[in-house]
Amino acid sequence: MAILVVGTVTLDTVETPSRRVEDVLGGSGVYAAIAASFFPNTVQLVGVVGADFPKAYTDILENHRVDLQGLERIEDGKSFRWGGRYTEDFNVRDTLFTELNVIEDFQPVLPETYKDTSYLFLANSSPVFQLSVIEQMTNPKLIVCDTMDFWINEEREALEALLARVDVLILNDSEARLLTGDSNLVRAAETILRYGPERVIIKKGEHGAISITASSYFNAPAYPIRQVADPTGAGDSFAGGMMGYLASVEDTSEEAIRRAMVYGAVVASFNIEDFSINRQKRVQFSEISSRYRELQNAVRF
Ligand code: AMP
Repeated sequence: MAILVVGTVTLDTVETPSRRVEDVLGGSGVYAAIAASFFPNTVQLVGVVGADFPKAYTDILENHRVDLQGLERIEDGKSFRWGGRYTEDFNVRDTLFTELNVIEDFQPVLPETYKDTSYLFLANSSPVFQLSVIEQMTNPKLIVCDTMDFWINEEREALEALLARVDVLILNDSEARLLTGDSNLVRAAETILRYGPERVIIKKGEHGAISITASSYFNAPAYPIRQVADPTGAGDSFAGGMMGYLASVEDTSEEAIRRAMVYGAVVASFNIEDFSINRQKRVQFSEISSRYRELQNAVRF
């Protein structure tokens, strides 16, 4: 099956207590597309970069068989740049800077071959940009979208319009609280359901993720990692892995979504073992299957 990932393609600067890296490959679209590529799908990526975006980085995406027809390059623009710093326990991240650059006025035009793709993942990006992609799709079977504090604060109105058009919203716990003003996650999810999505998935970092609909509740564990190098992109990898699995089995039932969340947790667990997408470059599907089975055993009682 084909899956269309829309998101940012960025140059990241990341600081952890032990290391600092500059202008490494990042972006919600990149992490999600690579995560989805572990499953037998055609992965299409829509995004935009500037003239400063290294060819070595597009080569990495191509090595993961990501279709880049939808990746626009603006020759007189600069790529999106983001900087973040983690504290000792990795649970708190400070955004040091967000330079939107080329994404600020970007109006994506979908290649004809992308318009009838069934599985659409709107990774973190401007809700205006996310909405314009939905409007160009002819018959999506499942629309999942992610958002973050930046967009909740800066483009609230467009975000609410977007929520009326998506099937699933994925966001992290602090963002669910920010969006609803409610500190209780179950109540926050119920409030979000009233904006339009039929399912809300709330990511809780090392504590896993929960899925809530009007009639179901599911708790997916996180895979326990002893040595976290860089959590950047964990959320996007979770969502991309989840969507990659769903598209590969062509199933959007409750049971499939539960399995997909566990696959998402596994793909994210590899992502945080190294900076940027360095660990993902070496992951074999057999390693994903093995951690998936470990998580199945971890929650059997
Ligand atoms: P995550 O750790 O899953 O929240 O994703 C981090 C990635 O999202 C980094 O590679 C950033 O470049 C990218 N990013 C940071 N801020 C934004 C934003 N406002 N919109 C979209 N992507 C962003």
